[in-house]
Amino acid sequence: MAKLQLKDLNKTYSPKVVPVKDISLDVSEGEFLTLLGPSGCGKSTTLRLIAGLEQPTRGEIRIGDRNVTDLRPGDRDIAMVFQSYALYPHMTVYENMASSLKLRSKISSGEINRLVTEVAASLGLTELIDRKPGKLSGGQRQRVALGRALVRQPEVFLLDEPLSNLDALLREKVRAELKQLFSSQKAPVVYVTHDQTEAMTLSTKVAVLNSGTVQQLDPPHLIYTRPANQFVAGFVGSPQMNLLVLKCQGNFAMLGDFGVPLPNMPTLPPEIVLGIRPEHVGFEDAEAGKIAAPEAIKGEVYLVENLGMQNLVSVRVKGVESVTVRALLPNDRHWNSEIVELVFPPQLLHWFDVKTGDRLQ
Ligand code: ADP
Ligand code: MG
Repeated sequence: MAKLQLKDLNKTYSPKVVPVKDISLDVSEGEFLTLLGPSGCGKSTTLRLIAGLEQPTRGEIRIGDRNVTDLRPGDRDIAMVFQSYALYPHMTVYENMASSLKLRSKISSGEINRLVTEVAASLGLTELIDRKPGKLSGGQRQRVALGRALVRQPEVFLLDEPLSNLDALLREKVRAELKQLFSSQKAPVVYVTHDQTEAMTLSTKVAVLNSGTVQQLDPPHLIYTRPANQFVAGFVGSPQMNLLVLKCQGNFAMLGDFGVPLPNMPTLPPEIVLGIRPEHVGFEDAEAGKIAAPEAIKGEVYLVENLGMQNLVSVRVKGVESVTVRALLPNDRHWNSEIVELVFPPQLLHWFDVKTGDRLQ
């Protein structure tokens, strides 16, 4: 199996509409790369460029040692699965799956039969093989669309939001099926989604996109634990990371009267962005008479949102009413007073440049 390479890929529709800005990426054999980003950031355009459904303004697309940039879609040996499934309504499941193979002259009908039967069985479609798409549920249709891609045994798989039309329960189920299915595939996969859970669970690598540029390219755990900039920090993680703009004073970032020790830096900026995930915020009752931890930040609970397994607790920091810190607590956790103490563990803090948004530490 061959590696997929994008080299300085650019798509410019007009000076103001540049959905893909010089993207370079490699996806090797056995890798599952997800393009993750908000709506309109250029994910589908990037995928359509790889598939050959759009021509790039600049740049190169290679599969192994082949430069496919100027090849027609049918000559690239790529299979693509769309959000809309794009099945032929008048054909049965079998015919839909076989349709992509019949375009090839070299393949015998016996071989087509073997491939379709095998892939249908692996997707649990055997009993539905003679049905037409109109008689299938959304999840079943999506499996047929996947099956049609899989029987082709292409050099590269492309999937554009394939789970978006499924309801939440089914999405979880098919997501797990996808993970199993692709873990045994060798061909590189490029998967597009705006859903961070899909990106985190399915991928070996995630490219976070914003406005047509790659913000960070890393395995999922690093995207979460070491976001490269404020955009990634804010986009990945739910509930969202607390991001606080704080003044620097001496070696501290000031939150009202409370100082959060800054990491070692060559020069101290006047302001800095502090990031802490809600699940990392330490939370203590401020009981009368109890001596507060020296690093604790006093605040007042003003909102509790029940998320099921956890509560998301919003706290106003004392003396700076405009600053809210959100803490995620197990739902059996109780407290006696609305006045609480927050602790920010230094090793779990993220620091970003106020102007560029880049990670500082
Ligand atoms: P995503 O899939 O991340 O939601 P798209 O790649 O579909 O985003 O679109 C990125 C941007 O490119 C959007 O602003 C969209 O309006 C624009 N765009 C996409 N296709 C075209 C086109 N054919 N002509 C002009 N603008 C387009
Ligand atoms: Mg899209």
